[in-house]
Amino acid sequence: MVLSGSQLDKESLLLEETLFHTANGYLGVRGNFEEGSDDAESVRGFYVNGLYDTVGLEYPERLYGFAQTAQRMVNLPDIQTMKVFLDGVELNPLKSRPIGYSRSLDMEKGISERCIRYAHASGAIAVTVTRMASFTHPELFLTVMEVVSEGAAGKLEIHAGVDCDVSNYANMNDPRVAADAARHICFSGSQLFEDGGLVRCSIPGSGLNFVIVQRFAGNGFSIEPGAHDNGFDVRLTSELTAGASIIVEKITTISDSRRRGDPAKHAIETADQCVQAGSRTLLCEQKSYLESFWKVAAIDVEGFPEIQDALRFSMYELLQSVGRDGMTAVSAKGLSGEGYEGHYFWDTEIYIFPFFLLTHPDIAKGLLDFRYSTLESARGHALLMGHSRGALYPWRTIAGGECSAYYPSGSAQYHINGDVAHSFMQYWYATGDLDYMALKGAEVLVETARLWLEAGHYGSDGKFLIHAVTGPDEYTCIVNNNYYTNRCAAANLRGAAELCGVLWREGKADVVESATGITSDEADAFMRAADAMWFPYNVELDIHEQDDSFLRKPVWDLDKTPPERFPLLLHYHPLYLYRHQVCKQADTVLAHFLFGDGVKESTMLNSYEYYERITTHDSSLSRCIFSIMASRLGMADKAYAYFTDTLRTDLDNTHGNTRDGLHTANLGGSWLSLVMGFAGLRLREDGLHFRPALPSHWERAVFRLRYRGRLIRVQMEREQTEFLLEEGEGFPIFVNGRSHMLENKMARIV
Ligand code: BGC
Repeated sequence: MVLSGSQLDKESLLLEETLFHTANGYLGVRGNFEEGSDDAESVRGFYVNGLYDTVGLEYPERLYGFAQTAQRMVNLPDIQTMKVFLDGVELNPLKSRPIGYSRSLDMEKGISERCIRYAHASGAIAVTVTRMASFTHPELFLTVMEVVSEGAAGKLEIHAGVDCDVSNYANMNDPRVAADAARHICFSGSQLFEDGGLVRCSIPGSGLNFVIVQRFAGNGFSIEPGAHDNGFDVRLTSELTAGASIIVEKITTISDSRRRGDPAKHAIETADQCVQAGSRTLLCEQKSYLESFWKVAAIDVEGFPEIQDALRFSMYELLQSVGRDGMTAVSAKGLSGEGYEGHYFWDTEIYIFPFFLLTHPDIAKGLLDFRYSTLESARGHALLMGHSRGALYPWRTIAGGECSAYYPSGSAQYHINGDVAHSFMQYWYATGDLDYMALKGAEVLVETARLWLEAGHYGSDGKFLIHAVTGPDEYTCIVNNNYYTNRCAAANLRGAAELCGVLWREGKADVVESATGITSDEADAFMRAADAMWFPYNVELDIHEQDDSFLRKPVWDLDKTPPERFPLLLHYHPLYLYRHQVCKQADTVLAHFLFGDGVKESTMLNSYEYYERITTHDSSLSRCIFSIMASRLGMADKAYAYFTDTLRTDLDNTHGNTRDGLHTANLGGSWLSLVMGFAGLRLREDGLHFRPALPSHWERAVFRLRYRGRLIRVQMEREQTEFLLEEGEGFPIFVNGRSHMLENKMARIV
């Protein structure tokens, strides 16, 4: 499981910085060269999940309730630099014409590696850099540089250190990245040690601060730290003799005031522990962590190593991106770049959460904790938006506040409430953890459900209607009765009422009652609204309408649109888009995937075909959903084509912007396309339901699932699927609608 690269040119630098970034859900470092990038365009990035600054949002015409400030993930001090000189001659990958270059990301060891060979006047020399963002010590970033003489000799110098003179990346012409580059960091002092130093910094807007410690270990060189105006330098010097090698271990730790009362103490202690442990031990710990991760997460696709590796790449990147501390989630680009400013969207709940829920539920629970921890902000947001009670989760956020400055495709996406509620319900179904639901889940479900009662109303025909919202498709904004929104609102209302019913019966409702004041009358009102919810439907076409007005607009002719005008959002005014039938991404089709139980087969098929013709997939959240629903509807070839497109999005840079960071929702979509698509898994209240259909040219695919403390191995073959309960008590599963009992360690072949 190794991603390899051997391209060393300035043009592919940005892309490779993303693909070879190193992260652990807490910190992330782009795959920049320690030696610098010469004059090539590069985004030198170091990020901590959820470590943000607040920036004012400027509107020449500010209307009531517009978000006033946004949070932005901050680019942290440069900790990467290690410039190498031999006898005063700089060895730089982009300037010194190396004679060999390779780079890899090893997903079993949890490291990235880069090896460069140079021809120096005195002979050849190789520089290998290994990087690790530790999963077992999240505040640790380890770099090991090995300089091996293959004949070269002379005075070796390495210039390293921490530089706080950094700013964020910006691009005025792309709404998917920040428009203004800003310096967010204030350097407030350094301290030197014998083997390195420390910097203290603050982030004035948010009032947060952090401390970085960097220390060097290894043999055969002298260390000379020195302070400067923006941090400190460290000069390592050695005499390299022909055939000898020098290994430098660089331990960098960071602690921040969002997580730690005394960041300096923590950063120093963690660095101490890590220096004492040594890189060998730290690397071994990383490998063991990943062994247990892959034990459950690995997917085997026999005979198709490229597909298998791409799937594993997706899962590894999700692990690198996911916050595991209950106060962070997965930003749209993970920790690999600054696209979308480090914001969390619904991407986490709908596209990423299911993977963790069904493989590592403890991590999934942390994601729910994050939403729970921001419930108070969501309550405030609901009030600001004119509601008298309930909670409205923001469209994009880091710490809980709405960060969207463009409300038509931002705050108007009320469906995020339903998405959050859906993830809590799925957690309950997958784990049976009623205590958690009683403690936190119910409060979130009740507050989000409450909001729908106010956002919607009963029409004259008794139907429950929700007006002036935006669904997932951002090319159609502020509409009445977006089908997806109404579906997820109905599920949210019903889920809240059902959960409260269970808690009342079990005598576990005291927490939710005191937190929300929920009564049985209100729960009945939730149920009534869910039952009366209006779902736009067109009888003639036998499709669900995306919203009440969608089908009355002219259809956009995608075949006549020149290729250079995609993605449409970069080439057409929003209003022009809104006036046409054209979709950025799956909307109604997504509703059929998530909330489609009970929808007629013909309606799903007709809807699929209708919306497929007008969907651009300009959002990377789209193709996987079309893959899953193609599997569901028996269109195997289509399912496969959308699956491979999904799988290759970042690896082949098909959206052209992987340089700004990975598309994490799409990475989750790879897993979903296989497990929810080819294996047809749906998680319902009564258990796991499968409809397996292996792609016809595959021999076998194997994956595992965690469900209520059990571990299940699913082996799909062309003619049959084998289910093996590897851990836990026997229980029934459903395959193609029929129930089958799974007994411990006994394979069940269906
Ligand atoms: C999509 C959204 C998504 C966001 C972040 C946008 O392009 O339209 O649905 O949440 O990207 O990934």
